[in-house]
Amino acid sequence: MDNRVRIKELFNRLDRRLFMEECQEFAHVDGPFPIGYGQTISQPSLVLAMTIMLDLKTDSKVLEIGTGSGFQTALLASGAKEVYTVERIKKLHDKAVKRLGEMGFDNISFKLGDGTMGWKEKAPFDRIMVTAAAIMVPPSLIAQLGEEGKMVIPIGNGRVQELTLIEKDSMGKLDTSVKEYVSFVPLVGKYE
Ligand code: SAM
Repeated sequence: MDNRVRIKELFNRLDRRLFMEECQEFAHVDGPFPIGYGQTISQPSLVLAMTIMLDLKTDSKVLEIGTGSGFQTALLASGAKEVYTVERIKKLHDKAVKRLGEMGFDNISFKLGDGTMGWKEKAPFDRIMVTAAAIMVPPSLIAQLGEEGKMVIPIGNGRVQELTLIEKDSMGKLDTSVKEYVSFVPLVGKYE
């Protein structure tokens, strides 16, 4: 099956209402919505587009920065082998751990902390998904991206940022391309 079709099918199986009890009546609307603590659940069409861009494979080991509601995490975990997700806000982290556990996911590891530092003990990763806007690509994330790895990250310090795909080849050489323009909440950490 075509990988895009596979990811689209997994996306269609997710019930977004389960991730936004704060405003469930808007779950069908293709936009970001508040999840508390000044953060948002991402626009669903963008979650899908970013996951397709990441070229997620069934055997991928994935690092996600910015667990948020866990909606993107659920899609990554549905389509990959294992997911390591980092969130800096304890209340969001706790809620996502409970929610995704109750949904039956057993291939997600959660960490509370500064995702700009990545998750060194678990590196390297085949795929890295960053769901908050960075001013620069955190060097730790580049270092923790494996050979033939891919990273999707919004870059910029304004209201609109460049959604960037970074690909690392087998020699460690990086190729960077801007795919579209997006608007994410800021990545807050050592390498913002
Ligand atoms: N994809 C998530 C969803 O659909 O619910 C949305 C994520 S929200 C746009 C961005 C998240 O990144 C927020 O939960 C925020 O707290 C988190 N975040 C920001 N800076 C971070 C950092 N340095 N480390 C970990 N998480 C961070």
